[in-house]
Amino acid sequence: MANVNLKINNIPVTVPEGTTILEAARLAHIEIPTLCYLKDVACVGSCRMCLVEATGARGLVAACVYPVAEGMEVQTNTPKCRKSRKTSLELLLSKHKKKCLSCERNHNCELQRLSAEYGADEDRFEGETLEHPLDLSAPYVVRDRDKCINCNRCVAACQKQHVGAIGPIGRGYNVHIGSAFEMSLMESVCVGCGQCIVACPVGALKERTTVDEVWDAIQNTQKKVVFFTAPSVRATLGEAFGLPVGTNVEGKMVAAIRRLGNVEVFNMDVTADLTIMEEATELLNRIQNKGTLPMFTSCCPGWVKFVEQKYPEMIPNLSTCKSPQEMFGGLLKTYYCEKNGIDPKDLYVVSVIPCTAKKYECHRPEMNGEVDAAITTRELARMIKTAGIRFTELPDEEFDNPFAICSGGGTIFGATGGVMEAALRVAARALDGKFEVVDFPEVRGTLPIKEATYKIAGKTVRVAVANGLANAAEIIEGVKNGTRQYDFIEIMACPGGCVNGGGQPTLPDSIRNSVELKELRAAALYRSDKENKVRRSSDSPVIDTIYAEYFGSPNSHKAHEVLHTSYKADKRI
Ligand code: SF4
Ligand code: SF4
Ligand code: SF4
Repeated sequence: MANVNLKINNIPVTVPEGTTILEAARLAHIEIPTLCYLKDVACVGSCRMCLVEATGARGLVAACVYPVAEGMEVQTNTPKCRKSRKTSLELLLSKHKKKCLSCERNHNCELQRLSAEYGADEDRFEGETLEHPLDLSAPYVVRDRDKCINCNRCVAACQKQHVGAIGPIGRGYNVHIGSAFEMSLMESVCVGCGQCIVACPVGALKERTTVDEVWDAIQNTQKKVVFFTAPSVRATLGEAFGLPVGTNVEGKMVAAIRRLGNVEVFNMDVTADLTIMEEATELLNRIQNKGTLPMFTSCCPGWVKFVEQKYPEMIPNLSTCKSPQEMFGGLLKTYYCEKNGIDPKDLYVVSVIPCTAKKYECHRPEMNGEVDAAITTRELARMIKTAGIRFTELPDEEFDNPFAICSGGGTIFGATGGVMEAALRVAARALDGKFEVVDFPEVRGTLPIKEATYKIAGKTVRVAVANGLANAAEIIEGVKNGTRQYDFIEIMACPGGCVNGGGQPTLPDSIRNSVELKELRAAALYRSDKENKVRRSSDSPVIDTIYAEYFGSPNSHKAHEVLHTSYKADKRI
């Protein structure tokens, strides 16, 4: 591709043909403000914040969609640009519900930051302000239409997920984001992935919080409260305290949760290991007994809901394993309670998850309420701040026994390809007792779809990994029409996997547009895997103990009762 030479604010830049002015400006270390643009998600040129002056163009142009040209001279910071941006902000503020002081996005809101930077007058235009009720229909997300600035990032995120649960409705002043026929989110085809939340620049979308219930349980002396944290949370929580993206804060996270009250802190990587034991055994059984193949992973509730709603004919292909969250809930309310003489009613189980779909999962009737509250990484960060804990100054502490020690395979569950790699480690050893390899680099990384074929003990195993539901749909269509043939497929609903889940810290577009978020967060998990002496789930001493003391063996009758589940078709319009 040919290169193009141009000047931005008099600084010479050379970029490939087809580059937008916005991308070229970043290479020249110039930030152009945006509200609707978001790297890898949305690029519609509608918010008008990125308007710049460029030679050869008539009037101001939107830098996020306008391509560079040879010899072009761009000015991003002229009086005309600033005035236009300020007016755009004032128009947005004219109908915005300005409740900044109590808004969860206070100090982390892109509208607020830009309004302050440009000196926008929030009262300049006296707009009609109507009050609409919050959409509280779903147990995982709250929509506040009166804070929405109609940037459409959420719509783009949902379309990118191949779900399309939301879109613009109405015209002119009445235009707003909603679901078809003004259905509530719960009635729509939404799968709960929360990608719309992390894309939203303001406080119009947030998780449905259960923090108050958790505080109540901690204060309740009749309850024993246990927390467990999902693999990816340790790789992202630090961002909420200003630490660089990709910092592993496992030790500080444990120390902080312990300081919330009289609680125990367990490691969900243990049930990620348990999931692998159950799932790898189920896969080998299906291969040996000519069961339904390919088998799909089932640890992502957003993906499971997508199958139930959009591809119910593929339900037999889903592994019957519960997610690590629900395996932990089941394990605690049975094995742990029996072992410690606790009445399950007196045990309050809190999972800390990267994910809004897992909030919904707790409410599925098949899960028997075994997890009492699921809080996101963001909610945990708020609890730590409310408790006045100086997070970055904390010493590193270790998880509580008996659910402290995990394998590296359990940790990489938080990244796309991690479940597959952990399963391959166990399945390969089961097929060939001498199989030593633990690194399967072919399934790592954030490519939309990864494929690999392995020869193990004379058997050929064909695998695929997809992240993001649009890529999952591509795999399913290929499987259905016979163009794609595999034995085992890992799907995670969120692009990049749980490290980029809908419950992770919301970062401003100035960071999201300039760092490789998914890759940096995943790298923290792979480093932890590499440093772990135990890489394979089946080599974990905790897993040995759990099977020896309770389940007997993977896929045993008891294991099926506690660790497996079923699914049902849920056809929606
Ligand atoms: S949670 Fe996911 S599926 Fe639901 S509206 Fe948001 S992006 Fe779409
Ligand atoms: S809900 Fe948020 S992301 Fe969606 S259009 Fe409104 S402001 Fe934009
Ligand atoms: S990929 Fe992870 S964070 Fe995203 S919906 Fe699935 S389980 Fe939740």
